[in-house]
Amino acid sequence: MSPAGAPAGGGSRLILRKLREIMAAGGAAQARLDALVRMIAAAMVADVCSIYLKRGDVHELFATEGLKPEAVHRTRLKAGEGLVGLVGETARPLNLADAPVHPRFSYRPETGEDPYNAFLGVPIVRSERVFGVLVVQNRVAKLYGDDEVEALQTVAMVLAEMVAAGGFGDLSGLADVEIRPSRPERLQGRAFSDGLAIGTVVLHEPHAPLGRMIADDPVREEKRLEEALQHIRADLQAMIDGDPGRLSGVSRDVLETFALLAQDRSWEGRLRDGVRAGLSAEAAVERARQEHRAKMQGARDPYLRERLHDLEDLDNRLLRALGKAEKLGAQPMPDDAILVARDLGPAELLEYAPGRLRGLALEEGGQSSHAAIVARALGIPMVGRIQSLVSRVEPGDRIVVDAERAEVQLRPGVDIVRAYDQRIALRSARAQEFARLRDQPAETRDGRPVSLLLNAGLTLDVQHLGETGAAGVGLFRTEFQFMVSETLPRLEAQTRLYRDVLEQAGDKPVTFRTLDLGGDKVLPYMVAEREENPALGWRALRIGLDRPALLRYQLRALIAAAEGRGLRVMFPLVTTVEEFDAAAALVQREMAWARKQGAQGPARLEIGVMLEAPALAFAIDALKGKAAFVSIGTNDLMQYFFAADRNNPRVGDRYDLLSVPALRFLREVRTACAAAGLPLSICGEAAGRPLEAMTLVALGFDRLSMPASGIGPVKRMIRSLDAAHCARALEPLLQSTKNSLRTELSAYATANGVAL
Ligand code: PEP
Ligand code: MG
Repeated sequence: MSPAGAPAGGGSRLILRKLREIMAAGGAAQARLDALVRMIAAAMVADVCSIYLKRGDVHELFATEGLKPEAVHRTRLKAGEGLVGLVGETARPLNLADAPVHPRFSYRPETGEDPYNAFLGVPIVRSERVFGVLVVQNRVAKLYGDDEVEALQTVAMVLAEMVAAGGFGDLSGLADVEIRPSRPERLQGRAFSDGLAIGTVVLHEPHAPLGRMIADDPVREEKRLEEALQHIRADLQAMIDGDPGRLSGVSRDVLETFALLAQDRSWEGRLRDGVRAGLSAEAAVERARQEHRAKMQGARDPYLRERLHDLEDLDNRLLRALGKAEKLGAQPMPDDAILVARDLGPAELLEYAPGRLRGLALEEGGQSSHAAIVARALGIPMVGRIQSLVSRVEPGDRIVVDAERAEVQLRPGVDIVRAYDQRIALRSARAQEFARLRDQPAETRDGRPVSLLLNAGLTLDVQHLGETGAAGVGLFRTEFQFMVSETLPRLEAQTRLYRDVLEQAGDKPVTFRTLDLGGDKVLPYMVAEREENPALGWRALRIGLDRPALLRYQLRALIAAAEGRGLRVMFPLVTTVEEFDAAAALVQREMAWARKQGAQGPARLEIGVMLEAPALAFAIDALKGKAAFVSIGTNDLMQYFFAADRNNPRVGDRYDLLSVPALRFLREVRTACAAAGLPLSICGEAAGRPLEAMTLVALGFDRLSMPASGIGPVKRMIRSLDAAHCARALEPLLQSTKNSLRTELSAYATANGVAL
């Protein structure tokens, strides 16, 4: 029971109604803040009610009922100072029976607050940004009840939204309270998809619509909430029931947990309490979402974090259901949208109109995250791992995504925009130059042809074949389809994808790499055992051989898709020849199965290996007559060669492929493959960088597979290179005792007119 004797819902409803009256009455901001604290103190039977707002780094007393009026605008608490500072810092409510004994209590004589013991402070938060603290105090030493804490939090939330919506029109004139971030900021992250873009922020998880925080009719509001809840539950159930064959056991578990959470009485109860207390349904969900986020930020336990993440996802679904079940991406999109989110789930990015999306900025994400895979396929820049990004932007802000420097610029000033306009123009001029090279042969000045191939993983990528003039797909990463879908792709879905890819490629060859999961590539719907060293653990072909059903299914799909045409398959992370034999036997078994079904099968079949584990480099002779080709995955090969995690920025730049040991090693592999008569290619990212590609060509490599963005620059380099001359220059360098040859090789390129 609240001190006023009314139940919580009734108490906050009364406060919310009065709050609305005060706002509607108009008048100066200060007068309305004064009226507000008087009203809250009376409604909550508190001796004191104060509003502190954040001005720069200090919390300043803006209005009070109960403390000395002369303290208003004089009492200022530095960041983290006093109990108010503590609430601001933690963004959590603080409820104390005897505040003066708390170690963080800071006594300010000008306020006359000595007689007060009970203290309840709640943050005034919006979009995860604390811009003030609302406090009530009482003389008697007592803890405030849960309903009182809740009532004050609700008022603080509504207050935050009203201030942000301009409800206190002249407030920002009154003080430089940063309700909406307005200053330019530069935030560092990590680059996951190359490029530069300037555009307008679109928030993936928009705030609850402003202006409708308080409900006119709680009964109607509860009905809206009820309908939206039913809607999302039915949706989830339909996903589970829809197609039993579609879900693997594991993904079904995930969805069922989700559906179970959607039935969670305490979640639903919180939402109902919200609308009964006078909030609109959206505001009630927003409140729940804020609570889940706040808890998630404090939660260490990964299981709990995951649950809270699921709950937040449900909150978002519910918000969308309330907004007339708008689909993702159905919100109005500016032509130069830059999507900002904490993280994006499987397939979510694909739901946005690709034509309007210029870039992507995330708080989370990783090199192998779904978002990064799709961003690279769409050719849009992405910067991820940007701390507190979402709380520092508002929809409509200008933003620069700079994946060259792994940073974003928020609300950039004119000078910065001008500099970026120039850099973007330069990039587009280069892109035009590369486009002109599209139909020119990739041949060195001394007449050596080099086959330039594309790395791909989604059908979206295959369009780059035509755009770049690449000779084929040298590496099709089949796991991407698995990583961007919500559930395990069925046989038909796999077959369809491979068929589409082959059709789009026309007469250009495509090399499909079988599933390369594990390590840093995890599926949301497959619970993997936690391993101490995932990169050295149960991954790639190792999973395929231990769980042959998954691999056989995939081979079946590939064989069906390649009916009547050539099929090239290769296996990732083959470490021993026996592994290759076992995998090749599975292909033959599936070929026999297809024939038994009456299919004619692929016209040609070539089975190759990826050389990623150094051990295989010393067994190449044993692959003679067995494998049809070898492809070096330098990303993994170098990580194992140098014992340096490819995704760990601390060690990522420590070792260089352009070093004597690595280049000697690659040369040995080339010699061994030539001796065994095995065609050899390189398909790691290094092949797409002009200086590395120059060196590889000089070492005798003539098939390079790379991301689409590498084809133009590498072709330009090749057409300016005398390969034999470069090979002669490289020879003595390989005898040197220097580690990285980067400087020497760059100098060679400059001196010999090689275009890098
Ligand atoms: C590699 O390891 O170089 C490679 C091409 O495979 P992935 O990057 O997909 O591991
Ligand atoms: Mg690899």
